[in-house]
Amino acid sequence: MVSRLVLVLGDQLSAGLSALQQADKARDTVVMAEVADEASYVKHHPKKIALIFAAMRQFATFLEQEGWQVAYGQLDDPENAGSIVGELLRRAEQTGAAEVLATEPGEWRLISALKEAPLKVTILQDDRFIASHQAFETWAEGRKQLRMEYFYRDMRRKTGLLMEGDQPVEGKWNFDHDNRKPAPDEVTFEGPLRFDPDETVAEVLDLVEARFEAHFGDLRPFWFATTRAQALEQLAHFVTHGLARFGDYQDAMLNENRFLYHALVSTSLNIGLLTPLEVCEAVEDAYKEGRAPINAVEGFIRQIIGWREYVRGIYFLEGPDYSSRNGLGHSRALPALYWGAETRMNCLSKAVAQTKEEAYAHHIQRLMVTGNFGLLAGIDPHQVHEWYLAVYADAFEWVEAPNTVGMSQFADGGIIASKPYVSSGAYINRMSDYCKSCAYKVAQKTGEGACPFNLLYWHFLDRHRDRFEGNPRMGNMYRTWDRMDEAKRQTVLSEAEEFLTRLEAGEAV
Ligand SMILES: Cc1cc2nc3c(=O)[nH]c(=O)nc-3n(C[C@H](O)[C@H](O)[C@H](O)COP(=O)(O)OP(=O)(O)OC[C@H]3O[C@@H](n4cnc5c(N)ncnc54)[C@H](O)[C@@H]3O)c2cc1C
Ligand code: SF4
Repeated sequence: MVSRLVLVLGDQLSAGLSALQQADKARDTVVMAEVADEASYVKHHPKKIALIFAAMRQFATFLEQEGWQVAYGQLDDPENAGSIVGELLRRAEQTGAAEVLATEPGEWRLISALKEAPLKVTILQDDRFIASHQAFETWAEGRKQLRMEYFYRDMRRKTGLLMEGDQPVEGKWNFDHDNRKPAPDEVTFEGPLRFDPDETVAEVLDLVEARFEAHFGDLRPFWFATTRAQALEQLAHFVTHGLARFGDYQDAMLNENRFLYHALVSTSLNIGLLTPLEVCEAVEDAYKEGRAPINAVEGFIRQIIGWREYVRGIYFLEGPDYSSRNGLGHSRALPALYWGAETRMNCLSKAVAQTKEEAYAHHIQRLMVTGNFGLLAGIDPHQVHEWYLAVYADAFEWVEAPNTVGMSQFADGGIIASKPYVSSGAYINRMSDYCKSCAYKVAQKTGEGACPFNLLYWHFLDRHRDRFEGNPRMGNMYRTWDRMDEAKRQTVLSEAEEFLTRLEAGEAV
């Protein structure tokens, strides 16, 4: 029988991957490749590149131990073709394989590259997700609004997680009412486990250091989980020590604590070291054993079987143009402060510094600090999208684009978010201790030292009045704006304009 190539991409490091399941160890060859195209089509954070290459090398070793034949292309291999399709062609020539088995990539760009490749490629469903494309399309069909909450309830019924028969445990689907407390004075969770680089990881770090020095971000210290065993350890550590207070403080932010009660499992989930169901089951077990309260457990499980599955559904439902949408017509260039240039805004300075050092920021830092500022300042959402895709170690387009373009920048015209996630400084002040050590004054609305979020918030609402005035969830905001006297409104708008001019000129605002 003719042999086949089995493509395993850097975010497909799962023993249960559909392409591996369909393949035959005895005659097929697994193809894995570290390629320059993938590492640099946006300038990915060095930690992200290292994570993916290191985890790929570890997974290739695992596959070989399992008896697979693996053709692995290292980045510095002089024969490396530099692209996924190029590597497939090279291996096809070497092995005489006439066909490629692939699991669907999580990005339209790569799907079309495979479809257009001069090879016979069979693309299989990625069944590492709970909802297939077809299941999501069926759910979405005929609905006027695709609200996550209803999708999530279906996922609860489908998986049986936190269910008693056909009813949610403790009588409610959602316990967010008990969540989202302001930042605590003391954090009792010591944060994620940090894994020392083994020989494989150390080699990759040297390679990334030599090749991607110009990319934004610090490569070292590097401590991400790169094997399934480490990912399971990270998960267990979170369930034992962090989960119980996850719900309470999931929206809080602190100058001196970057991780609070977050799990740090998105990297492992997104590259395939963990499955969403096993993560949720570990968390549900903690609830059943009385080790974590329902508000924490329900909130966590909703992020995974709700948000994570839902954003993927939207990405594939909406099609390849999704990441270039610009529903609000924003066009300002991404300011240099996103790349670490000096800013006096402490919240942004802290979120960006953490991103540079860790390739990680938690959800509220991404949504209500860097995302909120981008939206208020009218930054081109495609540039915002490319920034998020580059700088976070867990960023893959199927999950990053709907979160950025849709949830955070409202650039999809309101498919994901029913209203834009914008806030003045008051929200950041309530949820963090950033404002206490900021050069700006959060309570000040105008004049020297006024918090820029306060100015830009009204500027945003005013310039998009036609679009949002009729939104029932935003009526109060417009009523508050209209109650301000005319002179005050003019001052706010002109100071906001002045701020934007200075931002655009590259001043350290
Ligand atoms: C603008 C923006 C961009 C984002 N880009 C990404 C991205 O590229 N990749 C990514 O995995 N997440 C992204 N998120 C969602 C979220 O910020 C991260 O999943 C989370 O911070 C990962 O850290 P954690 O594992 O500590 O998560 P926790 O806070 O501990 O949450 C647990 C898990 O829930 C899942 N989850 C939570 N929220 C979301 C969400 N909105 N969408 C999908 N999954 C979610 C993740 O798998 C996460 O690991 C983005 C959010 C925003 C607002
Ligand atoms: S005062 Fe304004 S700019 Fe400063 S940290 Fe608070 S919200 Fe951010």
